[in-house]
Amino acid sequence: MIKNSSFSLKGMLFSAIATFADNCLFTRVLNRKASRGPLFITWLPTYACNARCSFCSTHELAKANRHTLTQEEIQHIAHEIGKSNAVATGFTGGEVLLWPHLFDAIKTIKSYGKNVYIVSNGFTLGSKVDQLLEAGIDTVVVSVDSLKPGEHDQMRGLNGLMEKLRFAISLLKEKRGDSNKPLIKTTTVVSKKNIRDIGNIVTELRKIVDVVSIQPISTGYANGPHDMDEQAESEFMFRLKDEVEVRELWGRFLKNYPDFNTHYFRLFPDYWFKPQSLHTVPCWSPSVRLQISPNGEIIHCASNPKYGPVGNLKFTTLQEVWNSPEMRRQREEIRKVENHCVCWCQDVSFNAFLDSVPFVNRHPTF
Ligand code: SF4
Ligand code: SF4
Repeated sequence: MIKNSSFSLKGMLFSAIATFADNCLFTRVLNRKASRGPLFITWLPTYACNARCSFCSTHELAKANRHTLTQEEIQHIAHEIGKSNAVATGFTGGEVLLWPHLFDAIKTIKSYGKNVYIVSNGFTLGSKVDQLLEAGIDTVVVSVDSLKPGEHDQMRGLNGLMEKLRFAISLLKEKRGDSNKPLIKTTTVVSKKNIRDIGNIVTELRKIVDVVSIQPISTGYANGPHDMDEQAESEFMFRLKDEVEVRELWGRFLKNYPDFNTHYFRLFPDYWFKPQSLHTVPCWSPSVRLQISPNGEIIHCASNPKYGPVGNLKFTTLQEVWNSPEMRRQREEIRKVENHCVCWCQDVSFNAFLDSVPFVNRHPTF
């Protein structure tokens, strides 16, 4: 058993290196057809959500995009992912546990031995634990913005959410037993509301989950739900006048939590206050990832409106989308660092990572 899992881990690592190398040469250096497709896939199957976070526009997107996929189309996409060289596929939304086809889609992808995770607000997670375990989910990510139940519920617009997500986490831990699978992870969006308490939030969450991650509050996500109206912006986003205090708070947090003291986390204040200074960070998104929308359309960038759909998986294969003329047109602009934009969410944290790798961050080709 141990031998098999270490073998499959080695196989996955080898496949990931081969896929990255293939894309480095064919999508990044030459911008030609690449044979191995994306490394990461995000599937956003629904904009429906039972929460009403004031910093999220998912309900507007749900109203504007009513078209959903048939069961046949869903299975076609799941098999396409299964056959691909992607090392990880994440389901996010909306609230993915409201999507009736989730477990069938996970099972199909898992039948190819792929790594699958979901991101949930945790409200109905407790009632779905058995189905998730049966489907073979690898990682469950739960969003937590505050440790104070009243504050978290208010930020997410859902009464009783904190209590339910705590219950779901303990049930998951109990039912997974010694297998430690799925991995349980939280993600916290750092904003004006919680930056003073972020150290405490990390410390407390580390007591109950396996991995604690954070990402910066952001807005202006034209192709995805992470956009907000003016009122939410004033509640959650930092103003220029906050810069000195925020940099001081952030410096203290990184000092007290050195495992967060990496290139990606260090640059949060620059992302909030001087985003233009990060426009020189090369974006690798069109060389490593794709995102599937609820109607099957594919994008690689959730933020910049000029990078629209590059294909639709209802009518084509993943490989055709990866090498489509529109994909290559968008790649050409981005690989020359002519995109003039930046986003700093976890989905594209590989940009910060590669920007910190010696040679890669100096060589003009990359
Ligand atoms: S942020 Fe997540 S939980 Fe909140 S409304 Fe949007 S999709 Fe739902
Ligand atoms: S850096 Fe720009 S092009 Fe790349 S994913 Fe972010 S917004 Fe899109």
